[in-house]
Amino acid sequence: MDKPEHSCGIVGTALTCNAAPTLKKALRVIQHRGQESAGIAVFDEHIKFVRGMGLVHEVLSGREFNALSGNVGIGHVRYSTTGTSSVENCQPMVVSTSAGELALGHNGDIVNADKVRAKLQSEGWAFLTSTDSEIIIRILANELTQTGDAVKAIKNTMRMLDGAYSLALMIGNRIFGVRDPLGFRPLCIGKLQNGYGIASESAVFDVLHGEFMRDVAPGEIVELTPDRFSSTRVPGPVHKAHCMFEWVYFARPDSIVDGKEVYRVRKNIGRKLAEEQPVEADVVVAVPDSGRGHALGFAEGSGLKYEEGFMKNRYVERTFIMPEQNLRDEGVLLKLNPIKSTVSGKRVVIVDDSIVRGTTMRKIVQMVRRAGAKEVHVRIGCPPIRAPCYYGIDMKTREQFAATNRSIEEISHLITANSLGYTSLKGLVEALEIPESDLCMACLNAEYPTNVPGERMRFQQRLEVEI
Ligand code: 5GP
Ligand code: MG
Repeated sequence: MDKPEHSCGIVGTALTCNAAPTLKKALRVIQHRGQESAGIAVFDEHIKFVRGMGLVHEVLSGREFNALSGNVGIGHVRYSTTGTSSVENCQPMVVSTSAGELALGHNGDIVNADKVRAKLQSEGWAFLTSTDSEIIIRILANELTQTGDAVKAIKNTMRMLDGAYSLALMIGNRIFGVRDPLGFRPLCIGKLQNGYGIASESAVFDVLHGEFMRDVAPGEIVELTPDRFSSTRVPGPVHKAHCMFEWVYFARPDSIVDGKEVYRVRKNIGRKLAEEQPVEADVVVAVPDSGRGHALGFAEGSGLKYEEGFMKNRYVERTFIMPEQNLRDEGVLLKLNPIKSTVSGKRVVIVDDSIVRGTTMRKIVQMVRRAGAKEVHVRIGCPPIRAPCYYGIDMKTREQFAATNRSIEEISHLITANSLGYTSLKGLVEALEIPESDLCMACLNAEYPTNVPGERMRFQQRLEVEI
């Protein structure tokens, strides 16, 4: 079986009223983080759950969902990737132990999962799936049985895991949020009308008429109750490893991730890009939707006019994950069509957040030319992606990247552009206004914040501190 991906979204709530409708709404707000499967688990004497393949409003409806009651619960949306679409990977994952029942929603990827699994197997443990989430829940169940103390069990589990994990946990009727000590994936806490919640992104609390309070700190465990939340922390490295791609592409523009509003960061990146990679042109257009902030920043920085360049059909499924090249090509055409008066006879700058394989941009450049553009220049917010991500973004093999073994000139040729420019690493860091040593940029510079077999580890990891 292919290794499942975990670029996902998670939520959790402790309320004084039925939690299921709130969890459903919260998951709809972070639907962009995963469209393959959705699920929630609530506590009502026992843990009860509804989960399945599909979008949140499809999975969480009908008799089974309407019958859910219980004031506490967690939820999960899972990201779609090729080869791994199956019901058994749906979350929350639920298990029952002599110390009680527990449910888990996981965003991230555990890098030492295979090693930990092999070790446990040699001690006689059996596993049902090859997922890293099963490892988390099994270790946690074991620790819970041994210690009988939820927080101690979570801490002991964290000690065994290496990599990216933001977790929504339900242990019996208790709700916890957990963020790995390097803080790869986001997680935040908010006040809701009838209690407290955790969510992958702060936009959840806006939509639920709640109040975003703060990020869960790297290495922090929070427990939610309807009237308060409490917090403990485990020791971790001095430097963090926030995934830069959350701001560049993944998170919603209206979310605040680790203190930085995503839209503002994207505009900063666009301004840097204009400064570093200027071009003589008539009009700036964005590849919707994730390229918009970058393009607006570019227009502002360059003084060039910004126009809507494409109609996006939002009812078409995503092209990024389609297994076959010709399907992907068709998909891009179905999804985007140029607006002729914007591009015809013009020197056009197309701005997007990232080039991964280059498939999308090649198609886009060609359609803009067909619509009559005189020149097509491409500017990209994210520096060239060259190295695999082991922390939960679906960029796994070097062969797939347009930037592997190609100069910028050659990539420009590949996508058939008149010119191509990327924001520099330094420019990206400045735009983020976060020290480089607290960011994970492994997919750009191949320096990994944790030990990954066969890859180079970045320097900071050895500086362990107690807090
Ligand atoms: P490419 O064709 O170069 O592989 O895809 C790049 C395009 O996909 C960009 O427009 C970018 O916004 C988008 N993209 C980048 N990373 C991801 C991802 O992890 N998932 C999805 N669905 N799209 C992505
Ligand atoms: Mg895009």
